[in-house]
Amino acid sequence: MKAEILAIGDELTTGQRLDTNSRWLSRELGLLGVVVCGHTTVPDTVADGVRAFAAARERADIVLATGGLGPTADDLTREVLAEVAGEPLELVPKALQAIEAMFAARGRAMTDNNRLQAMLPRSAAMIPNPTGTAPGIDLPATPAPRPLGRVFALPGVPSEMFRMWADSVQPAILAMAPDGGTMQFRVLKCFGAGESAIEAMLPDLIRRGRDPLVGITAHEATITLRIAARSASDEACRAAIAPVEATIRECLGDLVFGEQADELEDATVRFCQTSGLRVAVVEGATQGRVATLLAEADGRQETCVFAGANQRGTGTACGDMVETAQACRRELQANVALAVGDLSSDAEGREWLPIAIVTDETVSRHEHLLGGAGSLRLSRAAKTALDMLRRHAAGLPPLT
Ligand code: AMP
Ligand code: MG
Repeated sequence: MKAEILAIGDELTTGQRLDTNSRWLSRELGLLGVVVCGHTTVPDTVADGVRAFAAARERADIVLATGGLGPTADDLTREVLAEVAGEPLELVPKALQAIEAMFAARGRAMTDNNRLQAMLPRSAAMIPNPTGTAPGIDLPATPAPRPLGRVFALPGVPSEMFRMWADSVQPAILAMAPDGGTMQFRVLKCFGAGESAIEAMLPDLIRRGRDPLVGITAHEATITLRIAARSASDEACRAAIAPVEATIRECLGDLVFGEQADELEDATVRFCQTSGLRVAVVEGATQGRVATLLAEADGRQETCVFAGANQRGTGTACGDMVETAQACRRELQANVALAVGDLSSDAEGREWLPIAIVTDETVSRHEHLLGGAGSLRLSRAAKTALDMLRRHAAGLPPLT
């Protein structure tokens, strides 16, 4: 099957906003084995929209569109699809009820133009939107002699689009494939080695065309491995994923800190809670980045693991930093202090950042080489500090 993607909105064609939806949808389609043969970005005008949809439907089995489904006068995707289908827009009572329920749940009055969002071309089906008001539009394919692709039009708001994709569009596309079936994913998160080092630690798992398919991505030094299996049932998918997950865990060991939506800070807080650790954070160069990550971690509200931050600057000398951390730890009645020092340069111009874990009895120190550019390198340093804390709390040896 072939797909084309349309991104609709003046904010995209004028360069005010980046089209991230098409990128996300392309990756999802790729995981389903659907070939994406093009992206098109069009403004909020009926003529441009009609032309883009008509052309894309001639070339592809599936046309996925985002944007233009809002309630305001510049949201024209409904009108565009009515014209593309050569059909009038009709009120769909089920869609209207869903919109009314959404407004009632939010305690807001519904305006007349929201009724417009419940109007769909006659032959189209509604795609439920559980987190917003705009329902999506599923316009059927038309058969030979002039075959035209099936259209899935979704709202532009990324969070609404993600949910509707997972709930409705992905299953519908899987059902279109001749062999049908379903898909399951398993996500493992790693920290402590680069993307290519992690790939090298694994047997030939990342190759395209494998089944289950394993994808690897990096974001601010967190490496995400995504195992995707396609099979006749969810159970068969899970059975195919299990040995691949076991192999990955065996090869990567404690570099794997979590799964699915877990972030490094969530895992760190979890380990601190399990070990009953109360943590004081002392930061120099990272200027509160470590404290912010901990403050935003899942489960952080249940047990106070983060006692306080000190941004007075901790000095580059190891002694100074450890002394400040020790004083702060005692002051805040924490059993461990995580300290990030200040930057220093060596003769080759490289910049180093000392990080230490300080308890009543021990000091474990790491010299972090700052790579990369801009604020990203400080976020990486903050995550390196968090990972040291995670390893300490989990009783693992420090990484060398
Ligand atoms: P719309 O469904 O056209 O009302 O879009 C609602 C909002 O979603 C817009 O204001 C944008 O902020 C965002 N949005 C729309 N299209 C995209 C896109 N292709 N990529 C990322 N964000 C988008
Ligand atoms: Mg728009």
